[in-house]
Amino acid sequence: MSVTQPNTEQESARKAFLFCPGCSHAAPAGDGWSVDDHDDRTDIGCPNCGTVVVSQPYFDAGHRSTPITA
Ligand SMILES: [Zn+2]
Repeated sequence: MSVTQPNTEQESARKAFLFCPGCSHAAPAGDGWSVDDHDDRTDIGCPNCGTVVVSQPYFDAGHRSTPITA
């Protein structure tokens, strides 16, 4: 039998690792980071110093641009 643990690998691959340039805090996304959702953006801030580490358009399947159709 194989000892591979696909569940563990998927879990680690799914979580992006974030790094704060302000205080060198590092942790997986969703692990203690301050998430601030705006109308169409998501800001992820450092829980230690408040630096915005990630500011990205809100990921929503209903908001994504429609693929070009012929
Ligand atoms: Zn920080």
